[in-house]
Amino acid sequence: MPPASAARIILRRLHDVMAGKAAAQAKLNQVVKIVADELGSEVASIYLLRDGVLELYATFGLAQTAVHVTKLSMGQGLVGNIAARREPLSLAEAKAHPDFVYRPETGEDDFHSFCGVPIVRREAAIGVLAVQHREPRAYEEIEIEGLQTVAMVLSELIHGAALVDDAQAMRMRAANSGPMRMNGLKLVDGLGRGLAVFHQPRVVVEHTVSDDVDLERTRLVDAFRRMREQIDSMMGQSEFLAGTDHHEILETYKMFAYDEGWSRRINEAIETGLTAEAAVERVQSRNRLRMRSIDDPYLRERLTDLDDLSNRLLRILSGQLGTAAQLGLQADAILIARNLGPAELLEYDKRHLKGVVLEEGSLTAHVIIVARAMGVPVLGRVEQLFSQVNDGDELIVDAGNGALLVRPTAATIKSYQAMRVLKARQAEQWAKVRDLPAISRDGRHIALYMNAGLLDDAASIPLAGADGIGLFRTEFQFLVSATLPRRERQQALYQGVLDAAGDKPVVFRTVDIGGDKAVPYLAGDVEDENPAMGWRALRLALGRTGLMKVQARALLEAAAGRTLSVMFPMVSEPWEFAEARALVEAQRERLAASGRPVPTGVEYGAMIEVPALIEQLDVLLPMVDFVSIGTNDLTQFLFAADRANPRLADRYDWLSPAILRVIRRVVCAAAEHDVPVTVCGEMGGRPLEALALMAIGVEQLSITPAGIGPIKAMVRAATLEPLAESMLAWLATPGVNIRAELLSAAKRQGLSF
Ligand code: PEP
Ligand code: MG
Repeated sequence: MPPASAARIILRRLHDVMAGKAAAQAKLNQVVKIVADELGSEVASIYLLRDGVLELYATFGLAQTAVHVTKLSMGQGLVGNIAARREPLSLAEAKAHPDFVYRPETGEDDFHSFCGVPIVRREAAIGVLAVQHREPRAYEEIEIEGLQTVAMVLSELIHGAALVDDAQAMRMRAANSGPMRMNGLKLVDGLGRGLAVFHQPRVVVEHTVSDDVDLERTRLVDAFRRMREQIDSMMGQSEFLAGTDHHEILETYKMFAYDEGWSRRINEAIETGLTAEAAVERVQSRNRLRMRSIDDPYLRERLTDLDDLSNRLLRILSGQLGTAAQLGLQADAILIARNLGPAELLEYDKRHLKGVVLEEGSLTAHVIIVARAMGVPVLGRVEQLFSQVNDGDELIVDAGNGALLVRPTAATIKSYQAMRVLKARQAEQWAKVRDLPAISRDGRHIALYMNAGLLDDAASIPLAGADGIGLFRTEFQFLVSATLPRRERQQALYQGVLDAAGDKPVVFRTVDIGGDKAVPYLAGDVEDENPAMGWRALRLALGRTGLMKVQARALLEAAAGRTLSVMFPMVSEPWEFAEARALVEAQRERLAASGRPVPTGVEYGAMIEVPALIEQLDVLLPMVDFVSIGTNDLTQFLFAADRANPRLADRYDWLSPAILRVIRRVVCAAAEHDVPVTVCGEMGGRPLEALALMAIGVEQLSITPAGIGPIKAMVRAATLEPLAESMLAWLATPGVNIRAELLSAAKRQGLSF
């Protein structure tokens, strides 16, 4: 068997075979001869997956009469075992293995030792390459690796000659990998089924053998340089700053990117005659094999990081840089990513996107709000996602039950379909109350508005049964644009929304950019260390008045002849509200002075999401027409807990006395000034939380459209007064578990959650 340098000779010989004009069968016959020759084995054989079974396709050393005759199914015999597990197998005494099956037609009686490796394409086994020796002998790692390298080249040859149906191989891989259930955190409720698509697609190496080692070495050096530059620049970006989870991952990336051992191993593989891409993949599959045998979660994580980085290096080398969104979704898909930004998600075709599964993710991150607006279920914090799910695997996301069903069985698919029917029935139930008002049994009327950000959303007001749009996040349009949206485009969107809403009210929120909604064309001169508390929302808008003026004009012109409701995000001091209002008013006066049509009236609101503003309600409330409490930000600032940090995602309860008391303070103060209050954070879209809000006096919610049906049904079944009384008592008593108390009180009223 070969020392490292001999691998180079094999590859050179294989290169000549590949370049030759012979038919595929003849080429494979030559390959087995070369392998046996160079590895000093008595037998070398290639099995290919054809019509669902592994067929002996070429052999040196076994009976030629067995070629195309000997067949093994997946999992059957040693060869079937290697293909099914996609792992090498080496045995000094093949017959002693429990899976060994004797095939007399091959004439293999004389051979003792056996070593086989899978031939893989797109992570599916398409065949097996095996050698056998007469003497019982142990195979060294370097020999197994030599075979794996040959198997990579064979994969290219077999694919080029279309000897195997790749799609069938992928289906068989899925069937063989077996079903599994993975747990995660529900981020957006819903059920979805589709094929796994990686946001950063895995690269398929098309060319494995090179005859110019120097060129490949240079390509690798270049790719490493670019990768290091990318990581260094990411580390400078605000969302990756020290202390964040992202930063930790990047630190590991950086360690690997500068790790000489890794680049040396890839260079060694290049020395044997592989292209740079094939060499990266060769080393990557060695790591993956190691990954499977490691139990230590920390080490496994690090190897997953290395795997991720290998993919990045492959993308740079192959020039396949686009995300799956840019390549386009071809069929119903479940998107797999470590994490996503809101703009990245918006790039996907809504028709084919049936679900998102993230390794990270937290409930109030903006990407989740976008997903909710798109109606896409999202499951987050799924550990081991990347090592367990393969590209193209069938997946069912059952976010409601916190489950990802990987490669589901027929029975699971059936129960998924049954679950869909059940959900559809439930939706029918909600549809029945859709057009009825949300009035509780004791006669309290709750206004239920929806949160929106896309033009399509406005059209779904009647479908959702909403009383209007209580929060239109205008920044969504900015997030999906590569450049600052021009005034005409902004105006067209706002007008479209108002037209679709008809006589239902719409509250536009001026842009809330910054934080986790950064747009590259509006990046400040200085990166914020804490973007959520940085140059964001109204702060940015008041600093760049040009931007605010353009938006004000777009809003005023879009609402000409109707009432415009506009509110400002992240108001921290009353003067900020006053300044923003004056800015819009000045635009209104300018328009009116030039004889342009203007709204019949403008109502101004402030979002209450910064705790400092709550200390100045007496100053603020006389200035505003309405307020809207943004519980997503309010919670993050109240608890000093980053809303995008997955580790803090469920640390603090929305039903904690701190939150309920502070909201109640706002509600009471606003009532004194006769100012309407809406709660527009994600909290209000969850039935039990919504009930708690009603119990502290909130009468207007603006929530995710999918939440309106269930919450309306709940309001109509609830008697609110006794809950309000109990709530006052719970809030005044130390140590009460409000969630538990409220749940049992609600259940006593016959409400179900
Ligand atoms: C909030 O903070 O609760 C809110 C509604 O605004 P956003 O989630 O867009 O920051
Ligand atoms: Mg907010």
